[in-house]
Amino acid sequence: MTRKKIVAGNWKMNTTITDGTALAQAVTDGVTPIKTTVIMCTPATHLHTVSEIVKEKSNIHTGAQNCYPAEKGAYTGELSVSMIEAVGAEYIVIGHSERRTYFDESGDFLAKKVDITLAGGLTPIYCCGEALDIREAGTHVKYVGNQLKAELFHLSAEDFGKVIVAYEPIWAIGTGVTASPAQAQEMHAELRQLIANQYGEEVANGTSILYGGSVKPANATELFSCPDVDGGLVGGASLKAELFVPIIEAMEAL
Ligand code: PEP
Repeated sequence: MTRKKIVAGNWKMNTTITDGTALAQAVTDGVTPIKTTVIMCTPATHLHTVSEIVKEKSNIHTGAQNCYPAEKGAYTGELSVSMIEAVGAEYIVIGHSERRTYFDESGDFLAKKVDITLAGGLTPIYCCGEALDIREAGTHVKYVGNQLKAELFHLSAEDFGKVIVAYEPIWAIGTGVTASPAQAQEMHAELRQLIANQYGEEVANGTSILYGGSVKPANATELFSCPDVDGGLVGGASLKAELFVPIIEAMEAL
C-alpha cells in the first residue's frame, strides 16, 4: 500500500485572525499540491475562516491542535470533535509534547482523545518523541515505542490505519536543532516495524509517519528523502508562507 505524503503546519498559539487569514491565503495561493496532503493546524478561532480559504485547493486542509475527550457538557473552555468538524477541520493534533509537558496530559488521556477523534470521523495526528536525556541514555527507540504501545495499540487495525504518526524529538522542537536524516530514519523504521509486529505489514506500510523538529526549507529535502519519513509536522516555519511553501515544494519535487 502506498502511504500519503503529508506536510502539516502547527501554528501553535500564534497569529490573530487577521494575520492567520493572510498566512492561509498566501499558502493557498502559493502552491497547488498534487501528491502532497497539506494541513494547516491553526488556532481554533481561525478554523472556520481558514477552512473556507483552503477549499480552493483540493489537497489543502485544516486541523485543530487539541480536543477534549467528551462529546459535550460541562467542560469550560474545551472543544469537542463535533465542534471542530462543524467548522471544516478534518485533522486534530494529539499528544504534542507541549501539551504533554505544560498541561500534564497523560497517556491514558491522550488515548481517549485518539478514540474520540476517530469516532467523530476526524484524523488524529498523533505526536510522540523523546526528551534529550532519553536520547543521550540511548533508550529513545524503546521510549517512543512504549508511547505508541500505551496510547495507540488498543486500536483495531482498521482504526490504527486512519492515524497519522508524527515523531517529534523534543530536543529538536523549536530549538533550531534538527534530527539528522539518519536519526529520523532510524526511529521511523523502528516505529514502522513495531506497527508491523502489531498490525501486519499492510497497515505498517500504509501508515504515514511524519518527522517534526525544526524542519525548514534547507533541510526538508534530505529529511523527506528518507524511505520511512513520509513528510513533516512543521512549527516555526509554518508561520511564514515564504518558508512553508518551499517545504511543501520540497515534498512535491521528490
Ligand atoms: C512542532 O511544534 O510540532 C514543531 C515541530 O516545531 P518546530 O518546527 O518549530 O521545531
